[in-house]
Amino acid sequence: MLVDTVRPIPESEIAAWDADADVVIAGYGVAGAAAAIEAARAGAEVLVLERSGGWGGAASMAGGFIYLGGGTPLQKACGFDDTVENMKAFMKAALGPATDDEKIDVYCEGSVDHYNWLVEAGVPFKEEFWGEPGWEPGGDEGLMYSGGENAAPFKDLIPPAPRGHLPQMDNKKTGERGGGYMLMKPLVDTAEKLGVKAEYDVRVQTVVVDEDGRVVGVVARRYGHQFTVRARRGVVLAMGSFAFDEDMVRDNAPVLVGRPGSAIDAHDGRAIRIGQALGAATAHMDAAEVAVHTSPQLMTRGIIVNAHGQRFITEDTYPGRIGQAMLFHQNNEAFLIIDQQAHDEVLKLGSTGLQPTWVCESAAELEAEMGLPGGALTSTVNVYNMHAENGSDPLFSKSEKWVRPIGTPIAAFDLRGMTSGFPLGGLKTTADSEVLHVSGEKIPGLFAAGRCTTGVCAGGYASGASLGDGSFFGRRAGISAARR
Ligand code: FAD
Repeated sequence: MLVDTVRPIPESEIAAWDADADVVIAGYGVAGAAAAIEAARAGAEVLVLERSGGWGGAASMAGGFIYLGGGTPLQKACGFDDTVENMKAFMKAALGPATDDEKIDVYCEGSVDHYNWLVEAGVPFKEEFWGEPGWEPGGDEGLMYSGGENAAPFKDLIPPAPRGHLPQMDNKKTGERGGGYMLMKPLVDTAEKLGVKAEYDVRVQTVVVDEDGRVVGVVARRYGHQFTVRARRGVVLAMGSFAFDEDMVRDNAPVLVGRPGSAIDAHDGRAIRIGQALGAATAHMDAAEVAVHTSPQLMTRGIIVNAHGQRFITEDTYPGRIGQAMLFHQNNEAFLIIDQQAHDEVLKLGSTGLQPTWVCESAAELEAEMGLPGGALTSTVNVYNMHAENGSDPLFSKSEKWVRPIGTPIAAFDLRGMTSGFPLGGLKTTADSEVLHVSGEKIPGLFAAGRCTTGVCAGGYASGASLGDGSFFGRRAGISAARR
């Protein structure tokens, strides 16, 4: 009989195991690869079960940002001072509310070591900083601001440092062999050299528990047949988020209904449901990363207004913060207003591939074309320009570098609905990646990492936090699982 349930299967119902290993890892993306390496280094025999036909997951398709800091060699080589304390302060302020401070503490304290670990595994970083606004560097530069550290409200509270570390690409083709691939390939090569075995086209369905409630294996499905694997020491769940499970999204993070992004369809929430069926706690299930689909170069040089023609955020911050503000607080409605001079500046840097929706000779004409209430946009532009004449932005503290009066001709890009994202919530785990029961106790034999867990992000997001905490806490999951 094929098991379809996420309910745990009693060991007594397993007539014979099809395979066994010390540590069994479900999912060969970034968290699974990092767990595999550390479990093997701790002396465990490791078997990774992957649902698709090859390793990589969302991680290998990713832009590749890894959020690291506290004075990494790359930060130093690019001339930036960063401290563990500043990194902690920023992450607790920007990734909340209600961050898991113990996780952030160990993450920041271990960040330089984690960078070195990645480099030793063969992940390449080019010692060059990219200082322009953007989702990613224009070329193969290794370091960039990726969380709004150098923008209001953080820039004047916590000394800013760029922490978006990007593996260098051979021949930049994002989505093909982008930064995520350049991270995953060396990790998987390292795991293979350590003797890690992988089985592909194996979809983990649930876990097996012994009479004491300890997780001792998994039940999977392969080519329509049941495949059971005994785990002598522990099981690590590393199967990604619930971005593509419509019911879970509707129940937990309804702002994301119909707009999954930066995830793969294998992110069906199964790891979370397997944990929940065992009594695992979850956290921050409503939190979401949100991308706004337009050019940060344009946003930074313009103003972003809501359906009332009013600004609601500084335009030079991390575009993911703009996306969250727009989706969570502005009913997913926003417009980007920019004058011709600023638009031409951006075009000189390269085509954005975007065309404005409306182009007019004045703000008054523009607001009429856009259907905004008379005077709404005009007054916003007038107030912005009044202060911009002096290089200041007292309303949102945009950096002086980007503040310039908006002239004419003036255009608007319609950004309504232009957001997508993935959920940040998941299984609640300790800083050692042990899955916690709702009672607060650890579930024996069960470990988890990556986007099926709640990591360093509780609400806010910075690019690199997923590959960052997936690899960091993936390592800890591997060490913990191998320990028994
Ligand atoms: P994954 O890396 O997706 O690995 C999960 C693996 O589990 C997959 O291989 C999947 O097939 C497998 N799996 C799922 N279900 C099962 C099952 N039942 N049995 C067995 N295996 C299963 N994040 C960043 O931090 N920085 C970035 O720059 C960045 N850019 C991105 C760009 C794009 C285009 C995309 C798609 C994502 C990006 N992300 C980025 C997000 C990041 O890639 C993911 O959040 C991250 O990979 C999650 O790690 P994970 O190990 O949890 O999941």
